[in-house]
Amino acid sequence: MNRHPTFHATPRGGSCTLVGAGPGDPELLTLKAVKAIQAATVLLVDDLVDEGVLAYARPGARIVRVGKRGGCKSTPQAFIEKIMIAAVHEGEQVVRLKGGDPFIFGRGGEEVEHLRQAGIEAVVVNGITAGLAASTALGVPLTHRDHAQGVVFVTGHARSGAPGDGDDAQPATDWRALAATAHAARLTLVIYMGVAGAAHIQRELLHGLPAATPAAVVQRASLPQQRHIVTTLGQLGSAIAAHGLASPAVIVVGDVLHGVAQADLAMGRFGT
Ligand code: SAH
Repeated sequence: MNRHPTFHATPRGGSCTLVGAGPGDPELLTLKAVKAIQAATVLLVDDLVDEGVLAYARPGARIVRVGKRGGCKSTPQAFIEKIMIAAVHEGEQVVRLKGGDPFIFGRGGEEVEHLRQAGIEAVVVNGITAGLAASTALGVPLTHRDHAQGVVFVTGHARSGAPGDGDDAQPATDWRALAATAHAARLTLVIYMGVAGAAHIQRELLHGLPAATPAAVVQRASLPQQRHIVTTLGQLGSAIAAHGLASPAVIVVGDVLHGVAQADLAMGRFGT
């Protein structure tokens, strides 16, 4: 018996489910995500969603790609929501597929609110967020009784969104305060969308964290193209540049990386 139905029908029979597609590897999808994808008649797909995930879509389902990559030309959020609402009103089973988890930097919250204003109660299916997949890819936890009492998921891109996208005015992150807190409270920092601004983030974090703090960057976690570097906060920007790491990537900063930092050095393996 399913007490939490994945589908919540509107009066005309349409439904909308926000589905976390996970970090890339289709095997990291939840069973609920697979069921929702299989049942969808319309899929609105973010550009970080791996093609392998779409293999679960039923033949004949309408797949609409609505990429929203930072800095690239993409479908404006308001337009995506308009398509979504219209499709539900037409009686479609709409699945909005988002990379990772819909409620971690995925605008899931905004979409749920806007759908609700349109009289649609969306269902949300969790996915494995990239930061979690990234640390697991390195074989390290995000919390550890000896190294980290907690974890902070933070965006490295809070200063501005795509121009004209209606979200340009977010305040910049106070990296210095965050670094001081992370140091004092022993927290792991997991920075999404931070690679382009890594030099600035590094400079600011160094006001509160030692230069020797281990740092790692994982690009395309969980996918065959996965690459990573393990370095220190003091070397972060130059290591990213030297190894040509780029988005989508997650930066992890904190003492939980000590083990992997030592293992990588012992094996003479700096980047993969
Ligand atoms: N909702 C997503 C995050 C969307 S923001 C989630 O929960 O994972 C987009 C950012 O997520 C990217 O800039 C990158 O920082 C990160 N990201 C997404 N997929 C990734 C992957 N496979 N490997 C590393 N980082 C990834």
